[in-house]
Amino acid sequence: MRAVGVAALAAAALVAACDAPTVPALPGAYDFALPTDGSGTVLRWPSGSTIRVYADGGDAAATAALVRALEQGAAAWNAVVKYGEYRIAPASRLEDADVVLVWTAVPLPVETSQCEPELTGIAVTTFCLATPPTRLQTFPLKGSASGGRVKMLVQVLASLAGDTARARRTVTHELGHVLGIGRHSPNDADIMGARAAAAGLSEADRATVLALYHTRPDIVP
Ligand SMILES: [Zn+2]
Repeated sequence: MRAVGVAALAAAALVAACDAPTVPALPGAYDFALPTDGSGTVLRWPSGSTIRVYADGGDAAATAALVRALEQGAAAWNAVVKYGEYRIAPASRLEDADVVLVWTAVPLPVETSQCEPELTGIAVTTFCLATPPTRLQTFPLKGSASGGRVKMLVQVLASLAGDTARARRTVTHELGHVLGIGRHSPNDADIMGARAAAAGLSEADRATVLALYHTRPDIVP
């Protein structure tokens, strides 16, 4: 089973670029560049960012399960960096969120007509390039004049809500995409392997996110 796709990159050709020049030099790291047009495109948040994730599970119990997976996934990724390169934190208000995380049964609280998510596996992280394509589009909040600041959507199959370990692995994997890891590791021992089967972050996952946050980005959300 495929655990899924990264990026609905609007207007960008999703052509695999296996020889992208951005393959990181750090030993053990795998390629994190978005598979765009052959030159390799690095997406990451600015150094020092707090990336706020708003989790909505629908009812209280389903939200609690999602928040638990989010907290565990965030803790795993946050533990990698020592100098505040990034921090993933739960957002208590949708208005403060950079990222929205939902089970698939839950209607998204943002407008997606400009950039539709397409779920083909057990989870998907969706974001779309703005114009010029050095930034990402904002998904406007439904029914809000302020518009909000949501740049990424993470949808996880609702049936995983009852499988704590799998939900945690899947959310952790998607948070890797949120941080900017634009591909899957070829190794299923890594959390960023396509099946998201690993129990937690591997040395290669750690090396990859460190390499990413010490590489100059082409796209900043
Ligand atoms: Zn993935």
